[in-house]
Amino acid sequence: VEFIFIWGFFALLTAVVAGSKNRTALGWFLLGAVFGIFAFIMVLILPSIKERDPYAPSPDTHVKCPDCRELVFKDARICKHCGIALVPQ
Ligand SMILES: [Zn+2]
Repeated sequence: VEFIFIWGFFALLTAVVAGSKNRTALGWFLLGAVFGIFAFIMVLILPSIKERDPYAPSPDTHVKCPDCRELVFKDARICKHCGIALVPQ
């Protein structure tokens, strides 16, 4: 009986870790229920799925600083990297 509790515990733990890595918690819970500690180790090893950062630089929102070539916001008046004055676009 304890064995089942430990197995369920790892299934739950696997689901929690999977959820924190933006993976499907339910799917990993089922994997954890089947594979126990092995699924837990697997989800620990797997890298997390990155959520798309809404503030990530993109050609729509950013331009390259003419001086240091770093990406800065289009409407920036001063480059945050080198401090040069920019002309907002
Ligand atoms: Zn710059």
